[in-house]
Amino acid sequence: MTVLIIAEHNNNTLNPATLHAVTAAQKLGAVHVLVAGNAAAAVAEQAKQVAGVEKVLLAEAAQFENALPEEVAPLVVSLAGAYSHIAATATAFGKNLLPRVAALLDVSQVSDVTDVVDAQTFTHPIYAGNAFETIKTTESKLVLTIRATAFDAAAAEGGNAAVETVAATPAQNLSRFVGRELTKSDRPELTQAKIIVSGGRAMGSAEKFNELLTPLADKLGAAIGASRAAVDAGYAPNDYQVGQTGKVVAPSLYVAVGISGAIQHLAGMQDSKVIVAINKDPDAPIFAVADYGLVGDAFDLVPELVNAL
Ligand code: FAD
Repeated sequence: MTVLIIAEHNNNTLNPATLHAVTAAQKLGAVHVLVAGNAAAAVAEQAKQVAGVEKVLLAEAAQFENALPEEVAPLVVSLAGAYSHIAATATAFGKNLLPRVAALLDVSQVSDVTDVVDAQTFTHPIYAGNAFETIKTTESKLVLTIRATAFDAAAAEGGNAAVETVAATPAQNLSRFVGRELTKSDRPELTQAKIIVSGGRAMGSAEKFNELLTPLADKLGAAIGASRAAVDAGYAPNDYQVGQTGKVVAPSLYVAVGISGAIQHLAGMQDSKVIVAINKDPDAPIFAVADYGLVGDAFDLVPELVNAL
């Protein structure tokens, strides 16, 4: 069995999220990585060094520059014949691309895989993370998105895969890349961060959100996250949102400040190694998943914590 992983990258750098999919794929068989891009040879060089990768396929063409699924999916389908499984990490990139691949192959996708039981049996969350189901699929070709937090990253170095150039499929011109707005931050990226400090509705305003959480995040070298209530109220930008409809994270330390612990929030952070909750309500559901809980007013406790640190 051979797995084709679709690499996520920006034509210069391989996104570390892909390394988690490599680990999951190693449980299935030999691992090949497809780098579809424009002038993306540097990415293929990085992919070939990833431990456990046997072969890198490099497809370069102008239409692959921005990873539009309408362009990349036909390329993946053109290569699919040689593979038992096609996989990508369940990031915006993977979630954007693989459903189109699955539809073109006329198979059903298994999304957000958290465990590989065997070549056809996978565990993944359902009902917004309220339950995990293990399913055995009968599809002849398997299309999988992999939850990064469920698998360790493969080592970025130590491999020495062959790089093979493959022919680009013709441009489809079904969609056009208009622009990309990227958040610039000195903080670690939320899904890669080892420590996250998250704020909820209790912050009360964008100013207080920043005033209270920034010193703590600075002390800890943490990324900042938020509940959906905090995002909806305009206290924090959209890309801070952790949860079912936000980002799924599993840092070593997650500090939830003034967050009640609704199931949709827990779905995005309950796999964190150590969870600290600060909430004035001793019955808040967040304490059910917390390793350490501080009951009290966050506006007193967080500055105290910063001083103590
Ligand atoms: P609240 O539930 O209002 O909790 C605020 C908490 O702060 C309370 O526990 C309160 O005791 C505490 N508090 C108040 N003042 C203080 C103080 N001074 N000091 C200390 N503690 C204080 N939510 C997400 O987070 N992420 C998602 O991805 C997400 N997706 C959703 C998808 C769907 C389809 C739906 C229906 C909902 C989704 N939600 C999501 C929303 C979710 O249901 C909750 O409404 C939300 O998580 C609540 O955010 P919160 O905990 O900040 O606010």
